[in-house]
Amino acid sequence: MNKPAELKLETVPAWIGGKPVASAARYGEVFNPASGQVTKRVVFSDKNLIDSAVAAATAAFPEWRDTPPLRRARVMQEFLALLKKNQKQLAEIVTDEHGKVLADAMGSVQRGIEVVEFACGIPQLLKGEYSENVGTQVDTHTLRQPVGVCAGITPFNFPVMVPLWMFPMAIACGNTFILKPSEKVPSASIKMAELFKEAGLPDGVFNVVHGDKTAVDGLLTHPGVNAISFVGSTPIAKYIYETAAKHGKRVQALGGAKNHAVVLPDADLEFAADALIGAAYGSAGERCMAISAVVAVGAAAEPLVKVLAEKAKAIKIGVDMGPLVTRQHRDKVASYIEQGVKEGAKLVVDARQQNVPKDGFFLGTSLFDHVTPQMEVYRNEIFGPVLVVLRVDSLEAAIALINQNPYANGTAIFTESGGAARRFAAEIQVGMVGINVPIPVPVAFYSFGGWKSSLFGDLHVHGTEAVKFYTRTKAITTRWPHQDTPAPGFHMPTLG
Ligand code: NAD
Repeated sequence: MNKPAELKLETVPAWIGGKPVASAARYGEVFNPASGQVTKRVVFSDKNLIDSAVAAATAAFPEWRDTPPLRRARVMQEFLALLKKNQKQLAEIVTDEHGKVLADAMGSVQRGIEVVEFACGIPQLLKGEYSENVGTQVDTHTLRQPVGVCAGITPFNFPVMVPLWMFPMAIACGNTFILKPSEKVPSASIKMAELFKEAGLPDGVFNVVHGDKTAVDGLLTHPGVNAISFVGSTPIAKYIYETAAKHGKRVQALGGAKNHAVVLPDADLEFAADALIGAAYGSAGERCMAISAVVAVGAAAEPLVKVLAEKAKAIKIGVDMGPLVTRQHRDKVASYIEQGVKEGAKLVVDARQQNVPKDGFFLGTSLFDHVTPQMEVYRNEIFGPVLVVLRVDSLEAAIALINQNPYANGTAIFTESGGAARRFAAEIQVGMVGINVPIPVPVAFYSFGGWKSSLFGDLHVHGTEAVKFYTRTKAITTRWPHQDTPAPGFHMPTLG
């Protein structure tokens, strides 16, 4: 007898205490966006599964906390070697479940691996401070101690890189970790859990749970979880920040974006257009650092739009640019094309006129000119291959426009003027700035994060801010009395 199709599907398990857990009351479907087919099913965690993940992470914490940082770094080095060895396989999983083309997926895995390279230096990063004689015969030193059980909740668009922004740094700092990746792209996290175990990581230090709001809420409200890292859309980031903070947790919640690129008339327009095409349409625009709004200043506008249009039309859909992640998301992005036309923007490149593969969730490229700040195509994070051009008269007007936007993740300026670029970098209210660099994602030894509605919380991910987020500082003041030591006083000690 034939089984129903879904029973034959491979199941993506949770990973708890170093073992896969494949049984659950609820499962979700995993699609291949290029074919439009369901390829796997994924375990959705309920309260019991979350409880067992927290129990495993809690049980593993004391021994891992007390493992010398040098030994933790050695495990990290083994993990690094295995990630490099498996980079292509991880990238293929990303392509299968997210849809971005393989070369792009390889690059994103590489950027994640670089965080593990940084985490290998953890003994140096955890060094504290020491001051001798802060008072008579009194010394003070500080320690950086892990916070305990940490959890990470990640979006669909970088199934390897964004989780790698979080768990290697948390674990290197001596914490244990529970990752809840996007339910749309669950497999890469399980592959990384297997590799980390192979690298020698003790069971329970890294766990993976899958699912939707039920799984996330289970982590946000669990008394056994001490810190939450989140990357995703702004409304959910705000919810995560508020809920986790209310439950006494340390939180960093990175949200959505509308990233502007300013092009001044003195810029090399061919260079700028090439940079903007990759930044706007690469990964089908599904990057939180994608450029989705070009601010063309003065005489730059006319020639820039012309060259952008030629290049946007030349992108081969299905070869250079993959599909969108789901049918619903593709349809939502496509609805903005109608919306922009209705609002009066000039549609210069129209996705609806392009040949795209029939199966799967493909959409061509779109370019709007003469967009105004009031239009929905500008106000919303479309998160797809739609680029809008706004025209302004001056650098001051460009800076004012960007500073009025609630999002503030990344921005870029294209110019040959050092003075203009310096002024832009100083005055712009955005977390990451590129000067003739369209996607200014900081390297792993700097920290990544936006401002305003693109980040709820204080500390950014990776780099030294990650060490601050995943550790608590303890200040220890010491006196070893001997015969010359002054007697302790009764009033407020000044130590001097
Ligand atoms: P999303 O906010 O829908 O989902 C992110 C995570 O939150 C997923 O794990 C999901 O399961 C969970 N989630 C979704 N709805 C929830 C709810 N109601 N309650 C609790 N948890 C919930 O984001 P997405 O669609 O997966 O990813 C795209 C978004 O992520 C874009 O807005 C993009 O800009 C943003 N993003 C931001 C950055 C950054 O660094 N700032 C990086 C990558 C992506």
